[in-house]
Amino acid sequence: MRKKNKTMSSAAKLKRTITRQCSIKKKYATTYKDIKKYFKEFNRVVFRNKLSAFGDVLIKDLTREKCMGQVVTMEWKRKGTRFYKLEMEPSYKSKRDFLDTLIHEMVHLYQMQNLGDNGTHNDLFWSFEPKVQKIGLRL
Ligand SMILES: [Zn+2]
Repeated sequence: MRKKNKTMSSAAKLKRTITRQCSIKKKYATTYKDIKKYFKEFNRVVFRNKLSAFGDVLIKDLTREKCMGQVVTMEWKRKGTRFYKLEMEPSYKSKRDFLDTLIHEMVHLYQMQNLGDNGTHNDLFWSFEPKVQKIGLRL
């Protein structure tokens, strides 16, 4: 008789990794390397690799913007081109806060880039909540 393999879903695997990495609550310093790494992971598990990378990524102080992260739309009307720039804080209270923020901004990117949506916190945005919860994060 063949032994049945217990296979974990990729979301469950990622959730386990995230839980392990976020077990110690300490201040997290943002790196471009981590943004790239987790973008790839979240893209694979949550967006089935349908998300194109941000046109640009910038780590900067967002105190004045009163947000933890944001997607800035860069548009050249005459050329008819547009790209999306991700801005993230230099540090977060915890790694979990960093990951929550990154997935949040990635849902905004998906709304605007893939679905031509206005990228607000509408029903479309919140429809991603179950998928995000599956990997142990919050929108
Ligand atoms: Zn938002």
